[in-house]
Amino acid sequence: MNDLKAKVKDLFESGAINLFIGYEEGTRRPRPLFVKNAEETNKLVFDDRCSGNLAVYLTRKDLIGGKKVGIAASYYALKSINQLVSENQLSDEWLRVIGLSADGKLLEFGSLAEVSEYLKTASAPPKQNEDELVRQIEAMTMEERWQFWSDELSKCFKCYACRAACPMCYCTKCIVEVNRPQWIQPWATTLSNMEWQINRVMHMAGRCSDCGSCGEACPLGIPIHLLTHKMSETVAANFGQNGDDKGNVLSTFKPEDKENFIL
Ligand code: SF4
Ligand code: SF4
Repeated sequence: MNDLKAKVKDLFESGAINLFIGYEEGTRRPRPLFVKNAEETNKLVFDDRCSGNLAVYLTRKDLIGGKKVGIAASYYALKSINQLVSENQLSDEWLRVIGLSADGKLLEFGSLAEVSEYLKTASAPPKQNEDELVRQIEAMTMEERWQFWSDELSKCFKCYACRAACPMCYCTKCIVEVNRPQWIQPWATTLSNMEWQINRVMHMAGRCSDCGSCGEACPLGIPIHLLTHKMSETVAANFGQNGDDKGNVLSTFKPEDKENFIL
């Protein structure tokens, strides 16, 4: 821990950053902390409880615009950072990344390209619980699955906390707010809630880090992260892992792409 505090203090004192996004102790678990000067680095914590995805703040222009920013990044935040770089949202000119390895060591990255290199060999933390739940849902008949998701999504009251928690949901105007044409009904009904989640998950194809922050943010405990977890498995099996040289699944065209789905 002292390593992180000393490192971030150095970054402030050398003028390399003037904002650091990390964690401090909260009442039940670590919570985000925006450090604005060297003195405040004393509050920082960074350990395996800090598995949330702070990359969500890196596209918040109100927070980071014009600043030199540092960030503490879990494995999943590193994946999101890598994806945001490939979408031209982040730059070495203003961002310094400090990661945490699986064995608890600080990872210092000299550039965003080094984050990408690291991810090529780093292993994702296991997601045993999600894997088991997805297998249970896969074992259902189509009718049972429809009933399961109807029951779950009937509870959704469209607070959009799942969207707010996701680093990849950074459009200034989301499809759910567009009303000419009205793509998705703004009120909460089971079917329009399904439309919202199907749209959300499709927009994540090949971009999602599988961090699970969307599911964690849902105040009603709807397991929407299982949708993105399954989607990430499908994308990885068919197109390779996110962040490799195969590009984004829904925005990359190659002449040799299969077209048999058209028939
Ligand atoms: S869709 Fe959910 S799991 Fe995927 S990056 Fe966004 S918050 Fe994380
Ligand atoms: S966070 Fe939960 S309740 Fe809110 S919009 Fe998302 S699924 Fe619905």
